[in-house]
Amino acid sequence: MRVTPKEEPARGLPRLRSRMAKLRNPRAGAGEAEGALWNLEEKYRTLVRTMPTALMVVNLEKEILEVSQLTLEQHGFDRAEELLGKNAIMLVSAPDREKVETNIRNILTTGSVKNLECVMARRDGSAFIGELNIGLIRDGQGRPRGFIGISQDIAARRQVEEELKESEKKFKAIFENAQDGILLADQTSQKLYAGNKMISQMLGYSLGEIKTLGLMDIHRQEDLKYVIEQFEKFGKKEIPIAKDIPVKRKDGSIFYADISGSPIVLGGKSYLVGIFRDITERKRAEGELKKTLEDLKRSNQELEQFAYVASHDLQEPLRMISSYTQLLGKRYRDQLDDDARDFINFAVDGAKRMQKMINDLLAYSRVQTRGKAFGPTDTYSALGQALINLSQAIEDSHGIITYDQLPEVNADESQLVQLFQNLLSNAIKFQREKPPRVHISAEKKDKEWVFSVRDNGIGIDPKYYDRIFIIFQRLHGKGDYPGTGIGLALCKRIVERHGGRIWLQSEPAKGSTFIFSIPDKEEKNNDQSNDGQTG
Ligand code: ADP
Repeated sequence: MRVTPKEEPARGLPRLRSRMAKLRNPRAGAGEAEGALWNLEEKYRTLVRTMPTALMVVNLEKEILEVSQLTLEQHGFDRAEELLGKNAIMLVSAPDREKVETNIRNILTTGSVKNLECVMARRDGSAFIGELNIGLIRDGQGRPRGFIGISQDIAARRQVEEELKESEKKFKAIFENAQDGILLADQTSQKLYAGNKMISQMLGYSLGEIKTLGLMDIHRQEDLKYVIEQFEKFGKKEIPIAKDIPVKRKDGSIFYADISGSPIVLGGKSYLVGIFRDITERKRAEGELKKTLEDLKRSNQELEQFAYVASHDLQEPLRMISSYTQLLGKRYRDQLDDDARDFINFAVDGAKRMQKMINDLLAYSRVQTRGKAFGPTDTYSALGQALINLSQAIEDSHGIITYDQLPEVNADESQLVQLFQNLLSNAIKFQREKPPRVHISAEKKDKEWVFSVRDNGIGIDPKYYDRIFIIFQRLHGKGDYPGTGIGLALCKRIVERHGGRIWLQSEPAKGSTFIFSIPDKEEKNNDQSNDGQTG
């Protein structure tokens, strides 16, 4: 079907030229008019051809009158002459031609067509997606004369759109499936705008319902002032996260959340994105842990109290047993036979040992209760004091004690002396024939000092590593090596009070190394002791 108006069919450029010339200057002479026309014609051609757009001018029969360089390039032509006079519709790929034709027909009534998307054809038969904008050209009397078409290769734009869609899809998936609840709220009205599945689960409202809520619906009245303050701080980027915020569910119950908030602008409006992490379970676990620790502390205190009272109060009757048995032995020495005298000696011996054990127990219970406050302590002098206290035993054993440079730590000095003393006395004591050789060293590891006391003694079977730190646990009879089995238990308690650990490495018959750590003095090591106990 043709689309040219019946009363004035357009017949190409020559007619247009003369018409334009006449329109411009109706009284002008023929030569003058011709010159002006050519001048105008040249300007018009140059203008169209150099236009930085894919543009073409066609008459009402859709014959191409002029094309821009960019149109030629888009469709794979070299020169304008290759297209001039041809039907412009051939530049549209066959399946879309009818669509374009229909639109061109409509232009005659509407004036123009905008953003008509269609597949365009190249000279080599390939295609590209273009967007056509077509306008109607009218003459001075308003009669339709032709069309101007601008086309744009939108493949690149399409790709960007596709990528955008794809990334939107991904973000949507992340948003919807996030394990944290996400809420979008209007910054000005504080109304909720959108949410994800998780927030809907957390709050107990459907996604549709969420959009009808405001901050006051998801927080208790008493928390609202604080919540709004945090909300405003998020908006000003003053804080990134508000911790431990009570949030109200639809059923009125409360859960606690850490909320990270940040402002965003969507469609020119300011919103806040809030990411809710439900910490109710963590809070409950923390609460339980706190309670367990408190219980533990209380039961430790009770145990210490018990150990203290028992050891303190047992001393008196024990002293009586011991002194009266000794008195019995002395007074009735002549009336008793050898057996009776041996029995009395055993009883006295037993009472003395028990007294020692009770004293040890008392010392053990006092590690916490009688411990002094921590202060800067030179471990080198603490070791020196321990060596002085043990000088007789060292001399008797012909032992050689060596040590490296030792650091200053934050500690209770007298307990540190006791710690070195216990470890050194064991290192000297648990020997066979050889004279003991003991070496003390310290090494900084991360945030603590790790001390070791290495000996060349009898060594310890690894299966007893744990047992030897338990109070009164010994691996030998008192006939082999003297002692009550409290030394290492005391060491452990002292080290733990200082926030460290104690362990050992050993090879039976070769020697043992007892290792303990004390936090570096820059690190805080909290004194666990409880005051108020006397003894
Ligand atoms: P005690 O020295 O009074 O026996 P400890 O608590 O100090 O008590 O030590 C517990 C046990 O650990 C000892 O009886 C001994 O068997 C073992 N032990 C401790 N230190 C050493 C050591 N340096 N070498 C070998 N065995 C050791």
